[in-house]
Amino acid sequence: VDTYLAVDIGGTGIRVAIFPEEGTQALAIKRISTRGAGTPLERFYALLNEMWPVNDHVRALGVAAAGPLDTRAGIIYSTPNIPGWINLPLQSMLEERHHVPVILGNDANLAAVGEWKYGAGRDHKDLVYLTISTGIGGGVILNNELMLGSRGLAAELGHIVVDPSGPTCSCGLRGHLEAMASGTAIGKRAAEQLAAGRKSILAKDPPPTAKDVSIAAYQGDALAVEVLTKAATILGKTLADFAHIFNPSIFILGGGVTQAGPIWFDAVNAALKTGVYDPGYLIDLKVVQAELKDNAGLLGALALARQLAHK
Ligand SMILES: [Zn+2]
Repeated sequence: VDTYLAVDIGGTGIRVAIFPEEGTQALAIKRISTRGAGTPLERFYALLNEMWPVNDHVRALGVAAAGPLDTRAGIIYSTPNIPGWINLPLQSMLEERHHVPVILGNDANLAAVGEWKYGAGRDHKDLVYLTISTGIGGGVILNNELMLGSRGLAAELGHIVVDPSGPTCSCGLRGHLEAMASGTAIGKRAAEQLAAGRKSILAKDPPPTAKDVSIAAYQGDALAVEVLTKAATILGKTLADFAHIFNPSIFILGGGVTQAGPIWFDAVNAALKTGVYDPGYLIDLKVVQAELKDNAGLLGALALARQLAHK
């Protein structure tokens, strides 16, 4: 039987899954921690050996990895929490080791591909995907093609300036969308307001998370509503900018912050509606939650592997 292997390399764990010729139901899936005996690469190789189908044919292998990488060159420039993986030519390394076609993709890009092929973006050929959790990542499909850019670094939608004098981002630069609208930003903003003496049902210690803020917002806490709404409004205004640039027919929003419910979602939509300079952008435009949750990257890697095998 023909099979495909999909790999998801995250900051803390590596998942390998075997998929059949069709469909999105894995035949087998296993996750290991990147930390433990041996280097992360040795641990990854051991997991691949263990999972590699003995009796079935593997047509292609797709790899989703966090961090900047070049899909065309097959090189991981760097990946969070695996310090040794700098300019790692993982595609050729895996091709030489397993003698099957291999393709790499940035995890947020591949989550976009996963949603486009198998999730909320089916039947759309122009979509913008954003994951809003501790950070903000993105992926853009235009005219049924993943937008990569000249070195594969395109669609870093979290690292665009929304306020030049805003807080410092995880990347070190100031005022990025991620520093203003991510889950981390929501928690930090609430903590700052508490430290400044604002009244709230939120506890100062331990510092509130985005989830704490959203729970408090639904209990009617004014500070929590304000912080959540502000982050959502900044995101919605930025979606309007993305509409001006990409003119998608759907925005797909994934990540933990999207669980924050209607207070957050309504503010996103309201800011998007008032943020576009022409109502034409809003015609038939959908804003939806992602469908594939934690499997989006893995299923995007599967989609690329299938595409590669059918080329
Ligand atoms: Zn940044």
